[in-house]
Amino acid sequence: MQLRYNFRVYPSAGQRGALSKAFGCARVVFNDGLRARQEAHAAGLPYIKDADLQKQVVTAAKRTEGREWLGEVSSVVLVQSLRDLHTAYRNFFNSVSGKRKGPKVAPPRFKSKHDNRQAIRLTVNGFSLRSDGRLYIAKVGDLYVRWSRQLPAAPTSVTVTKDASNRYWASFVVDTERDVLPELDTEVGIDLGLTYFAVLSDGRKIESPKFLRRAEKKLGRMQRSLSRKEKGSKNRAKARAKVARQHAKVGDRRRDWHHKESTRVIRENQAVYVEDLLVSGLGRTRLAKSVHDAGWAQFLTMLEYKAALYGRTFAKVGRAFPSSQVCSVCGLRDGPKPLHIREWTCGKCATIHNRDHNASRNVLLEGRRIVAAGRAETPNACGAPVRRAYMPARRGEAGTHRAPRRGQ
Ligand SMILES: [Zn+2]
Repeated sequence: MQLRYNFRVYPSAGQRGALSKAFGCARVVFNDGLRARQEAHAAGLPYIKDADLQKQVVTAAKRTEGREWLGEVSSVVLVQSLRDLHTAYRNFFNSVSGKRKGPKVAPPRFKSKHDNRQAIRLTVNGFSLRSDGRLYIAKVGDLYVRWSRQLPAAPTSVTVTKDASNRYWASFVVDTERDVLPELDTEVGIDLGLTYFAVLSDGRKIESPKFLRRAEKKLGRMQRSLSRKEKGSKNRAKARAKVARQHAKVGDRRRDWHHKESTRVIRENQAVYVEDLLVSGLGRTRLAKSVHDAGWAQFLTMLEYKAALYGRTFAKVGRAFPSSQVCSVCGLRDGPKPLHIREWTCGKCATIHNRDHNASRNVLLEGRRIVAAGRAETPNACGAPVRRAYMPARRGEAGTHRAPRRGQ
């Protein structure tokens, strides 16, 4: 399977200039390609083939006035940018036709230089790793990388990004073997709630750590303060930069914590079942803020790929499944209960239920049933995990198969 490994990079002033040129050219080629396809579509012409599009917006464009600067950056960057456009279209078409499961994918959109994230992607012919640990990027130079761990194998591609706080990252895609952990006989159902981050069917409750809640609170305060600043003012620009930095900090901490908790759940259980989220649906209600802050979607993504990586069973229980309406002991279904009801006694078997715990028990039972019926989706073990989810890397020597330490 493919994993992503992320490292901070520190480009020099000159390299930052070269990178910014590359980000700009990648964006222009992407937008030119998108515009050409949109215009062809509007004119009733067939979808422009990738090879033809590349000739049009890269090869020929370099020789035209107003696009001659495309020649100043690595052509690998431009070709990959068009490939990203192609992937965006393919995802959209597959989503429309129903070939792609999950939430509907929107058609590709134009990129802007004001986007929070600027990126270029390179394949092996556009980058290499120097023996002194620097990362060579074509037409940019040797970048200093802060290596926090070793790559298990040679990377097949790298994405260099600049985030909203002006930090630079290199994200490597590496093909790696699955690292199947010794089998256990424990299984767990997980209910994601608002009182607790998660409640497990084995009785464990995972609370969001204080430091994270504090950081999130501070972010909220800063955002409110930003909204009070006059538009276009210097103070507003300063406040915006502060919010961006705090955002990055909260995001990093939350991700680290999600990694730690998801690894623990996967290591301690042979099978993990979760209730599938309708985050976008909940997002429109007044619960929205806490829902998004909790970052459940990120947590579930981590559980899913770690299950695939470590050879665990993972299944999502459908959203329509009434996890809070059914007694997890006798199966009595006595209807929906308002959110404020935290405890009740089953009318048939007289079990006293805690809402969250009962829900996680039901998720466990339903997950087992789904897996037994062979309806579980196969683990998503192929394709590099999606972009902003910083994927973990195993510590240790390249090529070894030591079990990862807790927390990684
Ligand atoms: Zn009962």
